[in-house]
This record gives sequence, C-alpha cells and structure tokens, in this order.
Amino acid sequence: METILILAYTEADGTLGRPSLEALACARALADGISGSRLVVGLVGATVDAAAAAIAGCGAAKVLGVAGAEFGAARYATDAAAAEALARAAQASIVIAAGTSRWSRVMAGVTQRLGGRIDTHATAINSSGGPAVTRWYYRQRMEAVLTRAHRPWVILVDPGCTAAWQGEAGAAQVEMVAVEVPESLRRTQVTGFQAPPADAQTIRPDAALLLVAGAGWTKTQPDGKAHIEDAKKLILGFLRLTQASLGSTKSLVDLSGEGQAVLPFLTHLNQVGQTGSTPRHPKGLSTCCHGEEPHVVGWRFINERRAVNLDPNCGWARGKADVLYVADAFAVMSRVNALVAERRGGS
Ligand SMILES: Cc1cc2nc3c(=O)[nH]c(=O)nc-3n(C[C@H](O)[C@H](O)[C@H](O)COP(=O)(O)OP(=O)(O)OC[C@H]3O[C@@H](n4cnc5c(N)ncnc54)[C@H](O)[C@@H]3O)c2cc1C
Repeated sequence: METILILAYTEADGTLGRPSLEALACARALADGISGSRLVVGLVGATVDAAAAAIAGCGAAKVLGVAGAEFGAARYATDAAAAEALARAAQASIVIAAGTSRWSRVMAGVTQRLGGRIDTHATAINSSGGPAVTRWYYRQRMEAVLTRAHRPWVILVDPGCTAAWQGEAGAAQVEMVAVEVPESLRRTQVTGFQAPPADAQTIRPDAALLLVAGAGWTKTQPDGKAHIEDAKKLILGFLRLTQASLGSTKSLVDLSGEGQAVLPFLTHLNQVGQTGSTPRHPKGLSTCCHGEEPHVVGWRFINERRAVNLDPNCGWARGKADVLYVADAFAVMSRVNALVAERRGGS
C-alpha cells in the first residue's frame, strides 16, 4: 500500500499557492489510481488552518501540520526539518511537492535524511501499472517515464504542467507535528525581501503571452541604420501594456559580450531554447527571430505561436509558427502597441 504525502507550504496570507494546488491535484490523481493507497496532506507555514480548510474536500486520510512563526519564511534549516518530520509522521512511501524554488532547495537534503530517492522536474505522475513519473531530458527533446522500487520516493512536480486542484472548502482537523527548532537552526534570520520593481521584471512565468525578441531588433534595417532605441521602446512598451513575459534568443543576449549595441534589459535569464529555458505560456509571439533552438526547443510548450519576420524564407519561423507575418517588426509592434493602448483606454 502506498501512503502518498503531499507537502505544501502556506503563503504569507495563509493560503496555498497555485503550484501547491497543482501538486495536490497530481497526488490526488495518483492516490485515486492506485488501489489501497491513501493520501496524507502535510502543511508547513506560520499558520496552516486556513489552508487545511480550503482543501478539506480533497479527501485526504489525514492532514498533518507544522506551524509557527519560524516556519513562515523560506529557510533551509526549518523547511528541511518540517518536511522531514511530516514525511516521518505520515510514514510516507511517496512524497509529492511542487518544484518551486523553496522546495527544490531543500528536498534533495530531506530525501537523503529519509534514506529515499528523489526525482525532480516531473511533468506528470501516472498511476496505471504503478506510480511512474514523466520528465524531459536533453533540453526538453526526449521524454522519459520513470518508475522506482525504492521508497520513500520524493517527487517534485514542475509548476504549470497540470491543472490546479479545485474542490470544496470545509472543516478540517489538523494533527500538529512538533518540530524542535534549536537555536543552531535559526542562525539564518529572514529579514525581508528585495525584488526589482514589477515593471523592471521581464520574466513572468504566469503571463498569458511570451514575447520572444531576436537579434534582428539590433540589426541594420532597410534604411541602412540600426534602431536600438526604437526597439527598446517598442518591446518595453508592449510588455508594459500586456504584462507579457520576455524571452530572447541566444544571439541577442550574447551581443553584449561582443561589444555590440544591445537591449540593456535582457540577460541570459531571458534566453529561451536548447541552452536557455523552455517556458510554458498559452501564447507566443516571436519577433526578429530566425534561430532553430528558440523556435524548436524554446517554444516547445507554447500552445499558440505566431512570428513576425522580414524574411519569407525563414524556415524555422515558417515551420514552427502557426502564423507567420512576413513584415517589419518595428512597424507591426508599433501598430500593435497603439491598438492595445487604444483598447485599454490610452493607458
Ligand atoms: C549548441 C547550440 C546551442 C544553442 N542554443 C540556443 C538557445 O538556447 N537559444 C537560442 O536562441 N539560440 C541558441 N543557439 C543559437 C541559434 O542556433 C541561433 O544562432 C540563434 O538563435 C539565432 O538568433 P536570432 O534568431 O535572434 O538571430 P538571427 O539568426 O540573426 O536572425 C535575426 C532575424 O531577424 C529578422 N529581422 C531583422 N530585422 C527585422 C525586422 N525589422 N522585422 C522582422 N524581422 C527582422 C531577420 O530576417 C532574421 O531572420 C544555439 C546554438 C548552438 C550551436
């Protein structure tokens, strides 16, 4: 019999974030698919009662909690101690958690303490024929299905791969698990957060649209000049209006290393493709982009893809976009920005 523990931490407002609800949906489906298995919820946070009530309808055999001010913020020592205590209290054979930065940081260590095995970046957990994890290799080009006989088995599920659990709230009884937090575990004090202002943040994993900028934005245009300032205004203007996420090709982010004119708001973190990221957004718009890697790998999980390129023979844009506009991206994006601003009442 499998005991499946879903581990989740509560947010500052006491609720569960979307990645946790997605992991819960995976755990629920796995428990439903393996006869005789049971689902246990393990919550960590400053407070856990509201979160437990919100997911009361998930049908867990029991809800365990580690709560207290010291468990509110992400900190390796306390998160690892809480996760380990919950896994032991649940006697979990399978532990499922969201692959957020907070859990990713601690779960390998927790697995070691439990004598278990861990798989990360799971995109799905299947139950037919026993539990199996689906994940991608070689920059999302090959998909593998993994099974393991070893227990406990810890699985981190990548956010954005499955629908979040939805169900009735209700009354939930939380069985509290005591975790000693000696002084030595509290050496690291969380004093607050420092983050760039929202409009300086161009990577938005939750955005409905991914705008991919290619090196063409910096190239000499038909008038014989490059128009970096215009490119900057058009791209940032579009992001401000739409709150889209910004991806870039390798060539564009590499240009700074070659001493060429660049778009200063782009870093290698924006790069999509084989040696970049493979983000998941419902829609994508690629502009001034020819490369194979951004189109074939970087766009892999974008559902609806459109491209703007001056070159009608751009094979990757033609082959990988659902719609290719053979047009000047400066003119297209200028018009798009004007139309979006008009729709938003000139904002
Ligand atoms: C091992 C390896 C790994 C790699 N990994 C990655 C990766 O992860 N991500 C990645 O991006 N690349 C990667 N590359 C590089 C990749 O092969 C391409 O060289 C690169 O993506 C090309 O970038 P680009 O499309 O921006 O530039 P270009 O190839 O220079 O294309 C620019 C395009 O802009 C168009 N254009 C110019 N002006 C306009 C305009 N006004 N309007 C519309 N269109 C215009 C041009 O027609 C052209 O098609 C990798 C390469 C290797 C060898």
